[in-house]
Amino acid sequence: MRHKIIAGNWKMNNDREQTKTLINSLNSLSFPQDLRVMVAPSYIHLSDAVEMVKDSNLEVLAQNMHFLNNGAFTGEVSVKMLKSIGVNKVILGHSERRIYYNENDDSLKEKIKIALENNFEIIFCFGEQLSDRKNGMHFEVIEDQLSVPLFHLQSSNWKNIILAYEPVWAIGTGETATPNQVQEIHSFIRTLITNKYSLDLANSISILYGGSVKSNNSKEIFSKQDVDGGLIGGASLDFREFVKIIQSI
Ligand code: PGA
Repeated sequence: MRHKIIAGNWKMNNDREQTKTLINSLNSLSFPQDLRVMVAPSYIHLSDAVEMVKDSNLEVLAQNMHFLNNGAFTGEVSVKMLKSIGVNKVILGHSERRIYYNENDDSLKEKIKIALENNFEIIFCFGEQLSDRKNGMHFEVIEDQLSVPLFHLQSSNWKNIILAYEPVWAIGTGETATPNQVQEIHSFIRTLITNKYSLDLANSISILYGGSVKSNNSKEIFSKQDVDGGLIGGASLDFREFVKIIQSI
């Protein structure tokens, strides 16, 4: 179901104390009923995080997971392991995973499959490189990134999918897509889903924007009609800044 969502992706940041402090601070806030606020701490702090949000509306998600349940994959974490500590949401397809760890449309298709089999909710990230945009290829690239991993799914699977458009050239660079560029892509995505499935389904999906969202640009981005919130990296590490972003939606 379509919601307003602000999700903080903490990436490889925050030790145990910093994680707990930030979660405690966020737990002390009350969010509007129709807004979902999520945070994605590192794997090793997920158990603490899940325990700490038990009585609050804050939601916890993992930053990644493997596409198999178990096996000889040193250093990896499976959906079963996440489930066993009470996690039921995951970010998949982040550009840092694609770029540094060679994740591709086919491996992401496998991850999505096992996530859905375990009834996980997924924030699925995608977005073009700067060269794609310069060559006018961004629409095609985005269509490809969505088609292979997602467009074979049954309509009923989509209730577990949240999309996050994250142009690679805007992540951690301080360069943000303009609100109109974001709206253009989000509207394009709803058209793709309408053509593949239906208008109703397209309108039921939350589509987030990510890429250098800060409190000084969030309000304008979130005001666009097809933007349902943000996936926030750097700015989610700073409590005051993150709160301002939450309040701007
Ligand atoms: P950023 O990261 O806000 O630091 O650009 C966004 C993301 O990677 O999800």
